[in-house]
Amino acid sequence: MTSDKNTQKGLYIKNFGCQMNVYDGDRMQEMMSSHNYDSVNSVEDADLVILNTCHIREKATEKIYSELGRIKKNISGKKEKTIVAVAGCVAQAEGEELVKRAPIIDLVFGPLTYHHLPDILQSFENDNLNKKKAIVDIEPPNEDKFTELPKRLKDNRAISAFLSVQEGCDKFCTFCVVPYTRGVETSRSFLEIKDEANELISTGVQEIILLGQNVNAWSNSNGKKMDFADLIYELSLLDLKRIRFTTSHPNDMNHKLISSFRDVEKLQPYLHLPIQSGSNKVLKNMNRNYSSEEYVEIISELKSIRPDIAISGDFIVGFPGETEDDFNKTEEIIKKIGYAHAYSFKYSPRPGTPAGQMENQIDEKIKSNRLQRLQDEIKRSMYKYNKRFLNENLQVLVEKETTPGYFSGRSPYLQSIHFQSESSCIGNIVDIKVLKVNENSLSGEILH
Ligand code: SAM
Ligand code: SF4
Repeated sequence: MTSDKNTQKGLYIKNFGCQMNVYDGDRMQEMMSSHNYDSVNSVEDADLVILNTCHIREKATEKIYSELGRIKKNISGKKEKTIVAVAGCVAQAEGEELVKRAPIIDLVFGPLTYHHLPDILQSFENDNLNKKKAIVDIEPPNEDKFTELPKRLKDNRAISAFLSVQEGCDKFCTFCVVPYTRGVETSRSFLEIKDEANELISTGVQEIILLGQNVNAWSNSNGKKMDFADLIYELSLLDLKRIRFTTSHPNDMNHKLISSFRDVEKLQPYLHLPIQSGSNKVLKNMNRNYSSEEYVEIISELKSIRPDIAISGDFIVGFPGETEDDFNKTEEIIKKIGYAHAYSFKYSPRPGTPAGQMENQIDEKIKSNRLQRLQDEIKRSMYKYNKRFLNENLQVLVEKETTPGYFSGRSPYLQSIHFQSESSCIGNIVDIKVLKVNENSLSGEILH
């Protein structure tokens, strides 16, 4: 398709799920802007609506069908046809099934094929608009998606940006759909990542967050042998203020990467390292391939090298066969590690996964009760972590002006901090004295 200002169209993308989806949504938006599509804020104003879906938990899938129901209502009565697309992991997993259940859908494409969107949209518009036959494009392609995508754009570029370096997963935890929806573990090449980092820097980005399902499993896929610690070091030589990464797997942590938290100044002292459960029995049944003792050992080594490091994690409660005793072990781990932040989920049986077939599924009420108790424990941990910064000074990378004169940014430990300033300081690192804390954020005053 070619650009023509007279035929400018509206694009509405709604992202569900993880940061990888936010990244993919941004890339789709950037790609479509060179095909005459501008972002709009409502379905009613859109010519193309994309639901960028997540398949991790059952509720996430059900949300998509409710969303499609709402979209149907919102676009009924519109003169021009609104094209409805479903992208992301639900699209990858369900394919044609989606169209059968929700005939409103026109296009289905997955995380590995979204770079085909301009072409399939063109085919749909040429051939199908009246016939209303949906196009489903989810077969893993031969080409490298990233080399087909356009350069990163300046429009709306934030101070902090995601950069996907690794996709897919071969670990096959028994509860998880990712290996089935995002395919085998693949790493982008160092040169491709460096180019994208430089593109982001040229748009004003000051902090890059490297993304991957198991980001620390990254290795250079083309050319010189490099591991993830090498990648961090090389990117730290670019004109950037801060580097972060997520999500890491305990089995891919090594001494070299741990030492990076001491040796690479731009690498921020924050690590998202999910354990999932504190019980070794449950970890074994999840196929995580580490024990809670090994996990604690990794954290101890990290803290010996970087005592102030903030640890965050993911937890699943109510995995098949989880007893009260197993659950208590998860609560104990939270106390032991002193998490700065954590996500927690009720186990959700996923089709096609081994745990979904296990017989000893846990009653929904027990799962809800355990989740509530776990979240209370996590809140206490987060509050305790944040409280230690009261009356301390923190270096904050300022990201935005929330209301006139009020700004927010992130501390090195990823805490969100709010403060007042007479002049704009977006993109700067400023010193903030912390005056108030709660479990989710801090506020304070700027020091001049
Ligand atoms: N690769 C990362 C790891 O292994 O730590 C996690 C990636 S996964 C997309 C994000 C989180 O979703 C997991 O850490 C897990 O806590 C949660 N999750 C995955 N499958 C789930 C399921 N079936 N039910 C509940 N939570 C699930
Ligand atoms: Fe899913 Fe396990 Fe892979 Fe993480 S490591 S993406 S939880 S299969």
